[in-house]
Amino acid sequence: MAAIELRNIRKDYGSVNVIRSISLAIASGEFVVLVGPSGCGKSTLLRMLAGLEEITDGDLAIGGRPVGHLPPAERNVAMVFQDYALYPHMSVAENMGFGLKMRNSAQADIDARVSDAAAILKLEPYLDRRPGQLSGGQRQRVAMGRAIVRQPEAFLFDEPLSNLDAALRVEMRLEIAKLHRRIRATTVYVTHDQVEAMTLADRIVVMNGGNVEQVGAPMELYHAPATLFVAQFIGSPTMNVVECAVLASRPEGIVLEVQAGRADIPVVRAGAAEGRVTLGMRPEDLSPCTLEEAWFSGTLSVVERLGSQTFGYLDIGRDQMITVELPRDSRVEVGDSLSVAGNAAHAHLFDVSSGRRMATAGEGSAARNAA
Ligand code: ADP
Ligand code: MG
Repeated sequence: MAAIELRNIRKDYGSVNVIRSISLAIASGEFVVLVGPSGCGKSTLLRMLAGLEEITDGDLAIGGRPVGHLPPAERNVAMVFQDYALYPHMSVAENMGFGLKMRNSAQADIDARVSDAAAILKLEPYLDRRPGQLSGGQRQRVAMGRAIVRQPEAFLFDEPLSNLDAALRVEMRLEIAKLHRRIRATTVYVTHDQVEAMTLADRIVVMNGGNVEQVGAPMELYHAPATLFVAQFIGSPTMNVVECAVLASRPEGIVLEVQAGRADIPVVRAGAAEGRVTLGMRPEDLSPCTLEEAWFSGTLSVVERLGSQTFGYLDIGRDQMITVELPRDSRVEVGDSLSVAGNAAHAHLFDVSSGRRMATAGEGSAARNAA
């Protein structure tokens, strides 16, 4: 399996620039997920890796070999599409072996590879069926099988699960994770779904408007989002974000004016926080408290009981809603008054104008220990 290196990759459609300048080194065997909202350039970037889209500027190497100028067939990567793109008149086995047949591989070799892939994907009972006689999940598996039989240097997936219903999506997600553990293929996987990104990726690349916002392991992005965009894109329900006045700034931390009182936040570069900052709190880092201790207080406008988790949506006035993860068996009801305080060690602070992260206490000590 091959490493993939992108250096200053740019894409213009006519005069419209859709990929700014992306550099990224993907290790051999790594599972990288490109995630971001619709239209941010994920498919365009993936198609440039596959050779389906011309690269306007920059260098692309696969396995150390420059491939930016090569047609798709000479790049030895296999792409799996959202709409499966199977041939309806061919059987499952023929669909899977078709690419090899086009390359004039020996039939015995094709049969052997198709049967290996069918075993991995549990498609053995369906090899003689037509795609029209399969469920959506089975069709997606055939599309993956077609990629596997080619034994490519890398797998490229573009939203492969988006056409499946929720239960099947979860099942296929687990299968893709297992498959990756088994064959350790270098994989670039595009999705707009942050749960898929979190669960599948070795590293996530968060994209926004043709730029890379942040690259990191799933939990790095979760615990230390570099920007407000990443903070609100990763995690569900989304992080609460509130702009606050800085009341005091001392070496050991800052004091913020929050809706229902004051919040003491330990920060490293306290001097950097002046005027106003954007405070981010994840729903699970807020918990019910007395009115005296409250950061936020208001009226519960929605209570969502998901079984394993309960979320309360707290109307704190001025059109602001705060999401709180409540104790699972909490008896609160819509209309109840509720006060919540935050776990200050898990507070996220962002610069109001740039949206960039300001270091907080935990990261500061981690950085000091590393130094
Ligand atoms: P994503 O996959 O993240 O949803 P795309 O890569 O499909 O986004 O598209 C990125 C941007 O490029 C969008 O603004 C889209 O409208 C534009 N775009 C995509 N393909 C073309 C094209 N062939 N011509 C012009 N603009 C395009
Ligand atoms: Mg797309």
